[in-house]
Amino acid sequence: MKAYERLLKYVTFDTTSDENAPEDRCPSTKKQKMLANALVEEMKALGMDDAQMDADGYVYGTLPANCNEKVPVIGLIAHMDTSPSAKGADIKARIVKNYDGGDILLNAEHKIVMSPEKFESLADYKGKDLIVTDGTTLLGADDKAGVAEILTAAERLKNGGVKHGKIAVAFTPDEEIGRGADKFDVNRLGADFAYTVDGGKLGEIEYENFNAAAAVVTVNGVNIHPGDAKNRMKNAQLMAIEFNSMLPPNEIPACTEGYEGFHHLCHMEGDEEKAVLRYIIRDHDMDKFREKKARFEKIAGYLNEKYGEDTIELDMCDSYYNMKEKIVPHMHIIDRAQKAMRDAGVEPEIVAIRGGTDGARLSFMGLPCPNLSTGGHNFHGRFEYIPVQSMDSMVEVLINIVKAF
Ligand SMILES: [Zn+2]
Repeated sequence: MKAYERLLKYVTFDTTSDENAPEDRCPSTKKQKMLANALVEEMKALGMDDAQMDADGYVYGTLPANCNEKVPVIGLIAHMDTSPSAKGADIKARIVKNYDGGDILLNAEHKIVMSPEKFESLADYKGKDLIVTDGTTLLGADDKAGVAEILTAAERLKNGGVKHGKIAVAFTPDEEIGRGADKFDVNRLGADFAYTVDGGKLGEIEYENFNAAAAVVTVNGVNIHPGDAKNRMKNAQLMAIEFNSMLPPNEIPACTEGYEGFHHLCHMEGDEEKAVLRYIIRDHDMDKFREKKARFEKIAGYLNEKYGEDTIELDMCDSYYNMKEKIVPHMHIIDRAQKAMRDAGVEPEIVAIRGGTDGARLSFMGLPCPNLSTGGHNFHGRFEYIPVQSMDSMVEVLINIVKAF
């Protein structure tokens, strides 16, 4: 079976995760287990006899080694859920064969067009076969393409011809809501190192991500009738605005790219009595990350001195860290991926993620785990697509990665 055929099958399962589900509910949506069960059956049919879904909906299975030499156990990981930011049910995927490089009419009835003017990546795929949506849902190549590529590689390996060590496979729920690593059993996977196959454009390798923190600034004001307020009212909203105005105005997402970090105001609410600002803080560089957090503390301290103790309450906690420090001591993992790509005719490109990844948390749980491309584009939206040929290339890449010699 080809990888794209698997993908077309998997996208018929609605596996949208739910960020509002209670923290102790795993998976966040029961329907993810339907795909998990189907994958277990498929893995068993591929000769992964130990394939199993655990109580939290994580799927594990191994492809036994077919050589006696001592080679590392390599893990391959993808996630089963799709992003709640677009509809993930009733997906009507179709293949645009031999793409002509022009506009793609996704949906005649609703006049939804995907145009290379708006989505420049399309220009790279003239003559390729593109899997697209009908413009009303996401596709789910993020990350069902990863699942499909891993199992297609496993099937090819099972059919022989390539010497390989033990391959440990895992499929996780709830990656899109940041919980994919929560219940991951690194020991059960039993790999020396692993790759998540969850990236975008063919050839991307990612082993740097942001250091991340969340900050909640609560401003306690004093409210008095505006007519009697002179020298007495302390308007929480104005103090909140003052807090924000003391942050560097150009260190925000709209003014930063590449390795530039930011603080980002995600939510604000308030009245005279009380105001709340919610921020996220991001930086690849640990020192700069610490500086950014220290600045929040400094501003809170300054305003408390100015307006009185306990005016500003700052609640800051770290969310995740840059996996780079966990990968750099094992750069052979990156070298292996680069070589595997070149041997498959794919030019590797190392990019820094401006976000997080499950692999980052797994890396801090003792399993070095960079991220590889799936080949897809425009994730989390209705214009998501993936070229069939990119999926085929990724299957080659994965086979090359686990190849023993
Ligand atoms: Zn993903």
